[in-house]
Amino acid sequence: MQLTRKLVEEFGNPLDWNSATKATLLLGVCFLMHSQYLLWAYYQVSGFAPPENATYVDIPYIAGQIDKFNLLIFLSLSLFLAGFYMRKHYPDHPLLEHVAAQYYGLTLSYCSYLIGNLSIATGVVIAGAPVVGFILFNRRAVFIALATSLVAQIGISYACTIGYFQYAPIVKSLQFYDGTISQYWLINLYLFTAPHLLLLTIVAYHVLSRWRQRENEIRVLSLTDPLTQLSNRRSIMSILDQEVARSCRHDPPLAILLVDLDHFKNINDTHGHPAGDLVLRAAAQSLANSIRQNDHIGRYGGEEFLIILPETTTYSARQLAERCRAQIEALRIETSSGKTLQITASFGLFCNENNRCDTPESMLHLADEALYEAKNNGRNRVAVSEK
Ligand code: GH3
Ligand code: MG
Ligand code: MG
Repeated sequence: MQLTRKLVEEFGNPLDWNSATKATLLLGVCFLMHSQYLLWAYYQVSGFAPPENATYVDIPYIAGQIDKFNLLIFLSLSLFLAGFYMRKHYPDHPLLEHVAAQYYGLTLSYCSYLIGNLSIATGVVIAGAPVVGFILFNRRAVFIALATSLVAQIGISYACTIGYFQYAPIVKSLQFYDGTISQYWLINLYLFTAPHLLLLTIVAYHVLSRWRQRENEIRVLSLTDPLTQLSNRRSIMSILDQEVARSCRHDPPLAILLVDLDHFKNINDTHGHPAGDLVLRAAAQSLANSIRQNDHIGRYGGEEFLIILPETTTYSARQLAERCRAQIEALRIETSSGKTLQITASFGLFCNENNRCDTPESMLHLADEALYEAKNNGRNRVAVSEK
């Protein structure tokens, strides 16, 4: 899997390749497969193979197939090279995908006829190839190639039942005899099946990792505020629900802070909306940097933030709020027009403590009342709900 990762880094993700490049990949796979079959055939007729092989496979028949495998390899290589031409000149033309899918399906149908349509290797290809095909290739091309190959398979099987074709002509003595299976034939079937299984596994692994990665990205996006990169309202509210439940179950204090930038509308009106966005990002960053590791912060509304402080008393929360307030006041924000902006913020604090267990809605309501009080008392200050 390390290798596939390296290859993806080098060549990009096959899922993103253009039509001709994907087809070229498939033709390359055909070339390798046909080469494997040719090498197998050469080995059987070479004289290096154990003489008892002749009991299991029809050596003269295999010798007669060598020319056909050579032709297949020549065709695969030519189509593979044509793929390189198409990649450059017609990268998105679907023709090559149709040709490659048909070529893959029909040549494999022929090979499966040679070793028997009802073999494990044929089963793996029939089940696996369309799955990989539908993921990677033009669905229309795969569908048509699948239909053609199935018709070919059914035709061949039928011809075998009426004795028009010999079933599995390469195989001499059948796989089964005396209630056991020929080890020789079993090993060969695995040999034919292995490359398909390997390819299937690589593609499935790759697609599933990408799927998981995408799902994760989407989850993060759905919980993040795009402007400030803080938790968005939905996310911070769900954190608040969890923290309130935890606090009420185990009784540690839970403080919340509602933060609202002062006279923020003036910034938009005087310096423009982009400057307002810049200020929002700077304020968000400053607040996020001021809180502790177990605290949570989210954008609650336009220029309002919600900070959740688990296991924090009113006293400590007020200290933290004062620190945040001072940090925001100390910010100097440079706009694109060269102006330096200064802002302040007001804080409303509420704490569930001393066996108190307010609901999230009631906590927010009380923090909002405190915030209102901070605004009324001149802004740039922290007010604590006394209710
Ligand atoms: P106060 O001190 O009483 O809170 O005054 P304020 O001007 O901050 O309050 P008000 O609620 O009247 O104004 C909030 C402004 O925030 C209005 C709205 O246009 C602006 N705003 C909300 N979301 C965004 C945003 O994403 N970007 C920018 N630039 N402005 C925003
Ligand atoms: Mg405001
Ligand atoms: Mg506001």
